[in-house]
Amino acid sequence: MKTIGIIGGGQLGLMTIEQAHLLGAKTICLDPTADSPAFRISDEHIIASFDDEQALQDLCRRSDIVTYEFENVSGDLLTAMEKHIKQGVRPLLDSQDRAREKNNARENGLTPVNFIEVDDVNSLTEGVKKMGYPCIFKTRRLGYDGHGQVVLKSDADLEKAVAYLPVPAILEEFISFDFEVSIVMVSDGEKIISFPIGKNIHTGGILDLCIVPAPINDTLKEKIETLGKEFMQKCGYKGILTIEFFVKGDQIYFNEMAPRPHNSGHYTIEGCSTNQFMELGRFLLGMDLQEPKLVAPTIMKNILGQDLEVAEQIAKENHPNVYVHIYGKTESKPKRKMGHITFVGMDLDEYNEKWKHRFV
Ligand code: AMP
Repeated sequence: MKTIGIIGGGQLGLMTIEQAHLLGAKTICLDPTADSPAFRISDEHIIASFDDEQALQDLCRRSDIVTYEFENVSGDLLTAMEKHIKQGVRPLLDSQDRAREKNNARENGLTPVNFIEVDDVNSLTEGVKKMGYPCIFKTRRLGYDGHGQVVLKSDADLEKAVAYLPVPAILEEFISFDFEVSIVMVSDGEKIISFPIGKNIHTGGILDLCIVPAPINDTLKEKIETLGKEFMQKCGYKGILTIEFFVKGDQIYFNEMAPRPHNSGHYTIEGCSTNQFMELGRFLLGMDLQEPKLVAPTIMKNILGQDLEVAEQIAKENHPNVYVHIYGKTESKPKRKMGHITFVGMDLDEYNEKWKHRFV
């Protein structure tokens, strides 16, 4: 029996472990938080900080293969243990810094939104002059769910960006896109599978709904799939990768990527014949990847702290084709991802009519 080591014990780790067990593997998970969601079901765990070199080495020693579900592990530490990390470290390094990520996307056939690098008040004001309003300030590192971002509509907003300085950041053109989509792919180095493309709706910078299939025509769908797969090939990436794109007319802009299971791929657990965590598991264990098929139109609703009680109530009501995932985080906070609900066999109209009113 093989053991998969997982750096990070959040909900992505939890769901990776659920599927790894179905594939007959054991898991060991490292996270600094003693009550991490993934620890509840991991065969073994290590409580240690992500920059604890000894602990990371211990994880490698006790695992046959290592993967990461947390993106902000130090690149230097991971590089030193690269031979254990089947996906390699480069996709992680490429995604950790927004400027590097977007330059890499451009060099490998994608079109990022125009951006300028800034790092102090001077370069910010110069950048705003060039870019014009509206634009978006984003810190280069450690940004997620809208953290480290400021939409600049006029000079009055500048001070909110200045509050972050000096820090490596980018100033990005604001795109009034038609919608945002994401594609989750898994490559074993030869074969690349991709999950059906979902349309993502964000509220307050955090993913709220994922609607699958995305309401796009076949030409656009094929274009996004081809762009995504060719990008993975050109980069020589293996393992799992999600790319978020903005779609405006027939223009497809690269927004960002994540070399780990992705929130917008949670719908695949019940909405597809195989899911993102299982295919990651197959890749890690050296098994053949399986091409996913959409079971039926599906909606994924994220459950943040403010909706946790309602989600628990919905779980008790036992609705057919409604799957409530509660991650078991001990502290619930508004805006913190506490779970998600997958509605299989449902489109947005039906969701809006029957379910939307239940949530904050
Ligand atoms: P990000 O962390 O870059 O994914 O940004 C979070 C959300 O902010 C995105 O999913 C978009 O909804 C919005 N956003 C980010 N960048 C832009 C942009 N350049 N133009 C318009 N909206 C954006």
